[in-house]
Amino acid sequence: MSGIREEIVIVGGGLAGASVACTLARAGRPALLMERDPEPRHKVCGEFLSVEAQAYLAHLGIDLDYLGASRISLLRLFLGRDMAEADLPFVARGLSRRILDEALLQEARHGGARVVRDMPARSLSCDGGRIRVEAGSLGEIHADTLFLATGKHDLRGAKRQSAGSIDDLIGFKLHYSLAEDQRRALDGVIEVLLFTGGYAGLQMIEGGLANLCLVVSKRRFEQVGKSWDGLIDHIARECPHLNERLQGAEPVFERPLSIFQIPYGFLHAPDPAEPQNLFRLGDQAGVIPSFTGDGMSIALHSGCLAASTFLSLGHASTVFHRRIQADIRRQVRLASFMNRVVRQATGRRMVFGLCRAWPAAMRHVAALTRVEDASMRRALAAS
Ligand SMILES: Cc1cc2nc3c(=O)[nH]c(=O)nc-3n(C[C@H](O)[C@H](O)[C@H](O)COP(=O)(O)OP(=O)(O)OC[C@H]3O[C@@H](n4cnc5c(N)ncnc54)[C@H](O)[C@@H]3O)c2cc1C
Repeated sequence: MSGIREEIVIVGGGLAGASVACTLARAGRPALLMERDPEPRHKVCGEFLSVEAQAYLAHLGIDLDYLGASRISLLRLFLGRDMAEADLPFVARGLSRRILDEALLQEARHGGARVVRDMPARSLSCDGGRIRVEAGSLGEIHADTLFLATGKHDLRGAKRQSAGSIDDLIGFKLHYSLAEDQRRALDGVIEVLLFTGGYAGLQMIEGGLANLCLVVSKRRFEQVGKSWDGLIDHIARECPHLNERLQGAEPVFERPLSIFQIPYGFLHAPDPAEPQNLFRLGDQAGVIPSFTGDGMSIALHSGCLAASTFLSLGHASTVFHRRIQADIRRQVRLASFMNRVVRQATGRRMVFGLCRAWPAAMRHVAALTRVEDASMRRALAAS
């Protein structure tokens, strides 16, 4: 057998990969974590941390105050020129993924994990209970156990079966330095704008910056000329509020980040015929639409749950995949349904009307798309 042998390999150093690395390291089982990016980078994400995500991060040793995360306690929903408001049932936090993901990887390193950057896995194959990872300059790695946490990116040899998911949306993100009066007006608030073809979220993150993150259908993006400026004009024509917020704002990146073909609604089907030493985490286990969803806490939950399942049962990935499905199935389905509803003009009006008449409705729907307390307690107690 040529190549290196490793007991535990984690592919992907996002929230799911870093959380499993931290948990295993604490239990005295340090892993090799391969991350393809040479350095911390920005990722397409609304960067809204729910109370569940915060609980996982605190458990993993992350101090959000120290990292400068903003505080968010009010939701404003916009449709055309109309606005509805509701208090959030918790104080959410806003922090860029560049800072957050690196802080978690640092935590994993301190615990003893070997985090190797600039190390993309090229492909994966399973051979008689041992998993072989083709790893560029490291050559071939033979892993006794593999945690697959590559997020939205599929790895050759382990592609997700995502047929039937919603895959016509494009995600964008751009950070802005807002004008002083607009920064003050956005402080403590997440603003969600519903528009034809998609929806956008605007909130403060660390360092006095604002994050504008949105999803739009491929068709609408083509209709507005396939440009960011065309897209912003389209949204601002429908929701003039965006013009006000971006008045005098300076973009922080040269161009927005984007992600295509997000398989919203995907859920990995547990299969006892799969290798029992291959655990799929985060967006490799399930992809929740971002509007009402809580993708970061699901990623963190999956990391802690996979580690605790492995530590207690060993090579029992089907048990883990069944548990994670049971924990997130309802949330992913409801968020996918909401996603479909708000993409229709009548659906948008209905949702907006309901939220304006009954602000608590927003809280109820959001609560139903989150990881439940009992599931969290189970994963946290064991990890
Ligand atoms: C538009 C949009 C907005 C969102 N907004 C929010 C939000 O506000 N709040 C929220 O909770 N969730 C949000 N989410 C969801 C959240 O971003 C994801 O659910 C979460 O990032 C999943 O974490 P992960 O660790 O599975 O994947 P990722 O965070 O994508 O991490 C995967 C990692 O694997 C690495 N990688 C990929 N391929 C390889 C390879 N071959 N070899 C080595 N490394 C590799 C990548 O570089 C990356 O670091 C949003 C998602 C989208 C698309």
